[in-house]
Amino acid sequence: MAISSELPSKDGQPLDALIVGAGFAGMYMLHKLRGLGFNPKVVEAGSGVGGTWYWNRYPGARVDIQSLEYSFGFDEELEKEWRWSERYAPQPELLKYAEHVAERFDLNRDIRFNTRVSAAHWDEAAQVWKVETDVGAAMRCRHLILATGCLSIPTDVTFPGLDTFAGDVYRTSRWPHEGVDFSGKRVGIIGTGSSAIQSIPIIASQAAHLTVFQRTPNYSMPAHNGPIPQEDFEAWAKDPRGYRAASKDTVGGFQNEASEAMATATAPEEIRAELERRWAWGGFRILGAFADSAVDPQANRIVQEFIAEKIREQVADPAVADLLTPKDHPFGTKRPCVDTGYYATFNRPNVELVNLRAEPLVRFNAQGIETSEKTYAFDAVVLATGFDAMTGAIDRIDLRGVGGRRIKDHWVEGPRTYLGLMVSGFPNMFTITGPGSPSVLTNMINSIEQHVEWIADCLVALKQRQQTSIEASPEAEAAWCRHSTEAVTPTMLPQANSWYMGANVPGKPRMFMPYAGGLHTYTEICRQVTAKGYEGFIIRQGDRVLSESRAFTSQPAPGEIPENLLPIIMERLMAAGLMPAAT
Ligand code: NAP
Repeated sequence: MAISSELPSKDGQPLDALIVGAGFAGMYMLHKLRGLGFNPKVVEAGSGVGGTWYWNRYPGARVDIQSLEYSFGFDEELEKEWRWSERYAPQPELLKYAEHVAERFDLNRDIRFNTRVSAAHWDEAAQVWKVETDVGAAMRCRHLILATGCLSIPTDVTFPGLDTFAGDVYRTSRWPHEGVDFSGKRVGIIGTGSSAIQSIPIIASQAAHLTVFQRTPNYSMPAHNGPIPQEDFEAWAKDPRGYRAASKDTVGGFQNEASEAMATATAPEEIRAELERRWAWGGFRILGAFADSAVDPQANRIVQEFIAEKIREQVADPAVADLLTPKDHPFGTKRPCVDTGYYATFNRPNVELVNLRAEPLVRFNAQGIETSEKTYAFDAVVLATGFDAMTGAIDRIDLRGVGGRRIKDHWVEGPRTYLGLMVSGFPNMFTITGPGSPSVLTNMINSIEQHVEWIADCLVALKQRQQTSIEASPEAEAAWCRHSTEAVTPTMLPQANSWYMGANVPGKPRMFMPYAGGLHTYTEICRQVTAKGYEGFIIRQGDRVLSESRAFTSQPAPGEIPENLLPIIMERLMAAGLMPAAT
């Protein structure tokens, strides 16, 4: 693999763009900008491409969106030559795909691996970003593009006495590249989020004994994984362009047969038939069963009860089934998990579930874990404890914008952005799938493609007009935050203590971070913003303001909200004071 070590451009000029991160976002951004004649480079902390799929190598890691949709659509040849082996590709195959894309488009020559950006300061006089890395390399760039991923920095969760534990400790998000063999071992795992839910069945099949420490149960749907059925592949292969366009024109950026039917207005036997059909199909299909399940507690409870019944069907011990059933958050208010054999794993004689709500974890000791009730002895412990999501990778960089203002200070009450693409006071700095964009509520690849293409168009427009900087206006940023609040308020999403809300990191401001208005709506808004000559942005040439559009007026396309949901949505917005009450 060719690895570039010289990043600054050879003529001493600043780079056109420095991209931080070589996951799918950074890779496509690099390819796109190079194709447009720019001079971009990438800095990546890992030793290879792939981002999420480079780091998260825990057993059972696989994508939760169907592979046919979770792959790049920007190049028809790439699309034709790659054939996924399973409906939900496993991590090694996803990593191979990333490596294949890097090789095919000769990306590695412009990526500096094993290097982490530590600081980036905006130089107002020179209109460039001055960037430093942890290996001492310094560089200047006109545009700084943060492709740092939404779930890339593990939380700092630690436990008293962890360093005294004599066994091995693994984090799912930093899994050893050589793999881990748990054969014959006594293993403990802390956490029951997606990472744990995917790894528990595999670890249980190897280990002598597995103890699962659960604080909060999650909803998990069966993947029904296996080879892609020939008819599904053929349906996709007939018209991949059309298929992708249809995926992008949805709330979540993937096809889900989203129904406009209301559970509260559907006969019980029809509800059951529909939920059974979608459960049998697997994955996220159940999310689209009823339009009101995301906004109406009564409708949501219908789906919750169905899933609770499914858990009871799979878990032999009713007490264990009850413990595994979520009770503290509505269905869909955390990203649901997609599993292979998770619930049935608790029927194995070598698997035990510990309820940390009833017997809190007190400390680690040399042998293992002490709870308030007893000591559990282990050879190895796995921490599947989650991420400092959406902002973690950005605010760990010493980022300073106009006047030396730090991003941490700008985001002290939560991450404020315009369109999840730019931050006021941080000119020429873009985020790909940043806070304030649909990102983690969607099929990430489709969101990434939309962002990369928007940013590339923006850079081309600036270059053509010899404009040197673009910056979100504070007014547009405030208006976008207001609009984002309006989008999420009618839903039940803010009701969960989720990482969407920053609730899993002590001290992190509570704010619903992704944009909940849907990828299709969001894409249309971005299109309108561009068509209006970059509405909400201030564009400069040197220190001369060339265009100054401060307001944000673009609107979601009419008719995107199912009509029968409108009364509920209006009522919620009025109750929250976001809409004048009807007279
Ligand atoms: P997560 O969903 O945040 O789960 C972390 C788990 O650790 C939770 O069960 C949490 O319990 C527990 N935990 C955290 N701190 C703890 C403590 N001090 N004591 C005891 N338990 C503690 O993290 P994740 O599983 O890594 O998943 C994060 C996101 O990554 C997912 O929502 C998903 O979007 C993505 N992901 C996707 C896939 C996929 O299928 N493609 C796979 C993995 C991850 P509490 O809930 O009580 O805090």
